[in-house]
Amino acid sequence: MAYDFDLFVIGAGSGGVRAARFAAGFGAKVAVAESRYLGGTCVNVGCVPKKLLVYGAHVADELEQAAGFGWTLEEGHFDWGTLIANKNREIERLNGIYRNLLVNSGVTLLQGHARITGANEVEVEGQRYSAANILIATGGWPQVPDIPGKELAITSNEAFYLKQLPRRVLVVGGGYIAVEFAGIFQGLGADTTLLYRGDLFLRGFDGSVRTHLKEELEKRGLNLQFNADIQRIDKLEDGSLKATLKDGRELVADCVFYATGRRPMLDNLGLENTGVELDERGYIRVDEQYQTTAPSILAIGDVIGRVQLTPVALAEGMAVARRLFKPEQYRTVDYQNIPTAVFSQPPIGTVGLTEEQALAAGHKVQIFESRFRAMKLTLTDIQEKTLMKLVVDAETDKVLGCHMVGPDAGEIIQGLGIALKAGATKQQFDETIGVHPTAAEEFVTMRTVTR
Ligand code: FAD
Ligand code: NDP
Repeated sequence: MAYDFDLFVIGAGSGGVRAARFAAGFGAKVAVAESRYLGGTCVNVGCVPKKLLVYGAHVADELEQAAGFGWTLEEGHFDWGTLIANKNREIERLNGIYRNLLVNSGVTLLQGHARITGANEVEVEGQRYSAANILIATGGWPQVPDIPGKELAITSNEAFYLKQLPRRVLVVGGGYIAVEFAGIFQGLGADTTLLYRGDLFLRGFDGSVRTHLKEELEKRGLNLQFNADIQRIDKLEDGSLKATLKDGRELVADCVFYATGRRPMLDNLGLENTGVELDERGYIRVDEQYQTTAPSILAIGDVIGRVQLTPVALAEGMAVARRLFKPEQYRTVDYQNIPTAVFSQPPIGTVGLTEEQALAAGHKVQIFESRFRAMKLTLTDIQEKTLMKLVVDAETDKVLGCHMVGPDAGEIIQGLGIALKAGATKQQFDETIGVHPTAAEEFVTMRTVTR
């Protein structure tokens, strides 16, 4: 049977655009449907605008440090409206680039919500299209617990478009987004409190990293409240919000920001018309080649709930394009040793096993840990410490994990990701000549086993 398309991609986000462009490049006839914004979450309400706001907040650090280097500055003034307008302009520019990338690679771009109406059929804006393969790349959506007053809270989606910087913010959650936005709000001058339901935020990250970041954030004056959870939110007469915690405490703020995880975006997708099954967590179930339980339908990215990071969605999109249209170049995605950064202030960079994971996996580990005041701060009064940590297998000498909290951690960890992928040993780290004077050189000069 002749289909309208070889591949119909639903969602022009990180994964969908990558799969569509490469499939078209391999000679396939491809369509992409997008209901909201080209580039998806990452470009519009994720990585990119977030990083721009992080840069904005970081300027406060630079200003604080300036005096030590002899600079006298007039009293600074921050204008949220300017930052958001400039950010929006950049996002619009990127939307245009994504449009060009798709159109120039021969992909048919359909604007509108796509709904699957059969194993090989998708409907967009009342028009039906047939396709040999359908790729679901619809991403995720913020999830707010069902508490009274939840409609008074905002999520990352709204935070990027706030008209004003709130004076007092309660950030709820202890994952990437909560920690990053707490740093943004606080860095830009809001009185910020982070509420996390457990003992210590960033569950799953290395224990030393979690503790170190907690200490550094507290030094910066961020109000961290652990074992704290909101029971209800009420609007007060003056327009501010009152959050009543489960332990009875009441906190008043101008904005309550929830970052309590994301759910797969499956709204009105028409899965009931297919044999696509969900896993026990509600994400689309796929095999190692991103095949769903329906033979003609594949899925990638946040909607499959593996690792919710843009470079992972990109790699999965690439794998699908190759598998379908360039099988001789097909390679599976390697989910081990994925480097990642949390753009908190200071940021975290991490790759490989945490100390806890290495021990749980039965490794005999050697830990190398270093805490130091970065050279840049020596001419200032700022007492912030950088943490660097290596988790090494005591028997094979292989470096199992590298972890850092400190300036440029995300930039530094990328190269270490290559070293871990190549299976580097601690001896090879030691034999690598440092770049002097940098913070990064500490990763090749740690000689004394901490434990
Ligand atoms: P998405 O990028 O979400 O794209 C899905 C697209 O599908 C969307 O454009 C959506 O409108 C569209 N869509 C959904 N349903 C339909 C439908 N039925 N019809 C048509 N279109 C539809 N990752 C990092 O690696 N680094 C970071 O610094 C980082 N920061 C982040 C910050 C925030 C605040 C958030 C929320 C996420 C961040 N992420 C980051 C995660 C990253 O954005 C996601 O992992 C990535 O965007 C997932 O790509 P995707 O292709 O699966 O989905
Ligand atoms: P995460 O899954 O990272 O964190 C969710 C947080 O919310 C956890 O601390 C969790 O606590 C807490 N939580 C969950 N449910 C509730 C609840 N009902 N009440 C109170 N707290 C709750 O999600 P995020 O929303 O922060 O981010 C989503 C994903 O996006 C990230 O996992 C990451 O993959 C990606 N991302 C990546 C970034 C980057 O690369 N820099 C930046 C931003 C996002 P607990 O630990 O106790 O379960």
